[in-house]
Order: sequence, then structure tokens, then C-alpha cells
Amino acid sequence: MSPVNSPANFDFHCHSVVSDGLLPPAELARRAAANGVDLWALTDHDAIGGLPEAAAAAAECGMGFISGVEISIEWQGTPIHIVGLGFDPQAPALVSGLESLRQGRVERARRMAEALAAIGIPGVFEGAMRYAGNPSLISRAHFARYLVEAGVAKDVPSVFQYYLTPGKPGYVDHRWATLEDAIGWIGAAGGVAVVAHPARYKVSNGELRRFLDAFKDTGGQGLEVVCGSHTPDHVLHFARLARHYGFHASRGSDFHGPGESYVDLGRLPGLPEDLKPIWRLVG
Ligand code: AMP
Ligand code: MN
Ligand code: MN
Ligand code: MN
Repeated sequence: MSPVNSPANFDFHCHSVVSDGLLPPAELARRAAANGVDLWALTDHDAIGGLPEAAAAAAECGMGFISGVEISIEWQGTPIHIVGLGFDPQAPALVSGLESLRQGRVERARRMAEALAAIGIPGVFEGAMRYAGNPSLISRAHFARYLVEAGVAKDVPSVFQYYLTPGKPGYVDHRWATLEDAIGWIGAAGGVAVVAHPARYKVSNGELRRFLDAFKDTGGQGLEVVCGSHTPDHVLHFARLARHYGFHASRGSDFHGPGESYVDLGRLPGLPEDLKPIWRLVG
């Protein structure tokens, strides 16, 4: 059973300073509650250290809370994000799997900084680290914030466009977790796996279908149908795919902080009514 019966406004995707968000977990909880969220998950990238603070603050606000995480995987060369929801945060396989992902991030960050130094932009590892609330969770978002400060580009989207995306000088390939790892860790911890922001991946429709086939075969159960980066057409498209695959539908802002995210916590359209909401499976 969910901690809230039929939540009117659930938001199962956002980031705190424990990964690449701008606010501490407790502030996110208060902001979510003030925005009318009644069931909430914090889903930091590859990290669950913010969950105790988030849970306590949610309880103080009288808001329902479930555990969450956004796991970075690579599937046939494409980076993809899998949200895990409603798991036991102490489960050993999940804890050690996320730990190994974070170790890989620090090593990747050094390679990114070397690549940028090679084109005449020095000191980026140290600079980006100053923006990381959690050094082991160093992310391209921290690089982008520092590179704006350093005057390399005018804003965060421009840094991604010119420096931090595939083919650009600061982008390096990286081995993330596998699909089997992510779904296995989440499942062993009693949670459910959801494909995050499916419109964001640089794959053809056919490749996305093949990925969704593999995700379902491996035990995945959910698809983010409503999210901060989806247009109304995306919502219709992914609602159709959720029906086709029998997936439960999730909804999440992917809020990173004021000024950096277009969509605030809980300020999203509702799910199409015939879909099975993912909150039925968690809590
Ligand atoms: P990483 O997990 O280190 O590869 O960093 C990915 C993070 O960078 C995402 O979760 C977003 O927070 C941010 N990001 C990725 N692409 C963009 C973009 N085009 N503009 C702004 N932020 C982005
Ligand atoms: Mn992020
Ligand atoms: Mn993501
Ligand atoms: Mn996210």
C-alpha cells in the first residue's frame, strides 16, 4: 500500500546537493510540500545518502515519502537513466553497486578535466569539485556550473552544447552500470525500476523499442510518462508505449534547483487517467 491513498500530486524525480541538485534534501521536501506534492521521492544520481534527511523533513511536513535513486547505466553504447523507487536503502547489493558507480565518476571527472586542459582550459577538476556538495558524485552539471563561472560559455545549456556532449572536447566515454545491474540492485532491495525521461535519449524509435523490450524482459515495470522534459506530444507518445508494454506510469519534475529547471516540484500535468500509476506498486 502507498503511504497516501490515491495521491493527487506525486513527484518521483528530483535532485539534491547529494548529487547535482542545488538544494539540501530537507529544503526540497519543504518546497515540494509547499507546491502541493502529497507523495514524494528524492532520486539523486547514483546516491541514496540524502534519503534519511528527506524522509524526516517530509514527515515534518505531513507529506508521503518513498525512497528513490536515479541510476546511470549504459545500454549498447547509449547512456540511459533508471529510476528506482520504494526500495530498502540498506540492501547490500544496492549500496555496494551505487558505491562502485560513484568511484567510476571520480575517475571519469579526472579524464574530462584532462581533455579540457588539452584544449587550453586548465584547473577544471578542482573548479568543478568546488560545486559538488558530495565529491564522490561529481557530475557534468558541476563541470558546467564551474565553466560558466570561468567564462568559458555564457550559461549551463551552452556549456553542454559546446563542451560536454558526445563529440565535444570535454566529453569522455564511460562505463556505467548495465541494465541488468540496475534492475537487479533495485529488485534485490524490493523496489521497482522505471525508465527516466524516455524522450531524452539519442536513439531511433526502433532502438528505443528494443531497449524497452530488454527493460521489460529484465524485470522493469515503469515508464516516466509525465516529466519535466516532456512536451504534451511526448506525454501522448509515452502513454501509448506504457499501454503497449503494460508498464506502470511515473511522473517526475527532475527538479535540480531554482533557475536551473523549467519545471518546479509537483508543477506537472496529471497522468492520462487510464494509465496504471506507479505509486500503486511502491510504499
Ligand atoms: P552526468 O550524470 O555526470 O553525465 O551528468 C548528467 C547531468 O547533467 C544531468 O542529470 C543533468 O543534470 C545535466 N545535464 C545533462 N544534459 C544537460 C543539458 N543539455 N543542459 C543542462 N544540463 C544538462
Ligand atoms: Mn542531474
Ligand atoms: Mn536523468
Ligand atoms: Mn534526474
